[in-house]
Amino acid sequence: MFDTMLNHALLSFRLRPAGPVLIRRGGHGTDPSRPDLEWVRTSTNGQETVYLPGSSLKGVIRAHAERLLRGMARRVCDPFDHHGACQKTGGDGAETYSSLCAACRTFGSLSVAGRVRIGDALPVPQQFAATNRTEVRHGVALSRDKQDPVRGALFDLEAVTEGAFQVRVLAENYETWQLGLVLQVLDDLHAGLIQIGSGKSRGFGDVTVEDLSADLRVLGKGPKDRTLPGAGALLNTAEAERHDLDPSDHVALPEGVDWARSGVFARAVVPTGTCMDGLRKVLATDALARFATGSRLRAQGGVR
Ligand SMILES: [Zn+2]
Repeated sequence: MFDTMLNHALLSFRLRPAGPVLIRRGGHGTDPSRPDLEWVRTSTNGQETVYLPGSSLKGVIRAHAERLLRGMARRVCDPFDHHGACQKTGGDGAETYSSLCAACRTFGSLSVAGRVRIGDALPVPQQFAATNRTEVRHGVALSRDKQDPVRGALFDLEAVTEGAFQVRVLAENYETWQLGLVLQVLDDLHAGLIQIGSGKSRGFGDVTVEDLSADLRVLGKGPKDRTLPGAGALLNTAEAERHDLDPSDHVALPEGVDWARSGVFARAVVPTGTCMDGLRKVLATDALARFATGSRLRAQGGVR
C-alpha cells in the first residue's frame, strides 16, 4: 500500500501446549512405524524439530478475527468468492486498500499483502527437547456426515504436550485497531475460546500465550506526546482520507513506555507484564471499540 514504512510492531510471545496439540504435516508418510497423523517438521541447526508453520497460525488467527469483525457488524468478504471486491487487481494502492474488507485489510487477499505477518515458530531453545518429546494418542475415525465411528478405522495421532514455541507477529503500516484485533485474538486463544491445529473435537489444540511483549517503531523522531500512532496519523490528512485511514488514529502508550531515537526510527519497547497489559487494553479495548462504533468500512456493500 505504501512505499514507506510508517510504523512497525513486532509482537513476541510463547505458545505453550495446555493439552495435546497436533499441527499435521500434509500427505502420508511411508514409514509404518510413524503415527498416521504426524507433526509437521523442519530442520534447524542440523536437528529435526516440530514447528508451527506461520501460515497455519495465521489461518487460526484470521478465522477468529473474522468472527470478531462480523460480531462488530464490519464487512468481511467470502474468501472463496474470486469475483468479490477484495480480489480485484489493478488501481493504485489507496484505491485497492480502501476497497478491501476489514479482514483483507489486516491479513491480505489474493491481490494484496496484509498488514500482519506471522513467522514460522520453532521451539523455545531451552525447551527444544521437551517440545520434541511427542506422545502418540489413539483415535477412532468418525464418518464425516454423521460423526459416527467407522468400524475398524483406528489411527494414531502424534501430540506435543510440553515445551513451548516462540512466535513473532509483525505488523507494518497498521491501523491501531488492527493491532488491537490481533491482541484480542491472542487473549481469546489464551482463554481457551479457540484452538490450534487438528483434533479439536478430541480436545486437542489448547494453548496458552505467555511472555507477550511488543517492539514498536515509527518513522522519524516519533510523537512528541506519549502516543502510539496508527498509519493514518502518520500521513497528511488528505493522504489518510484517500486511503480511508483515520487521520487521528492513536492510543496512549502505557505508563513507563517512551519513544527513543533509533536510527531513522523512534522506538518504544513494551516489556511483558504490567506495561504490555496496559498496551493490550488500550488497543484491544479502546482502539478496537472505536473502530467497531466508527463509520469507516461500514458503508461498503453491507455485512456478509
Ligand atoms: Zn476481504
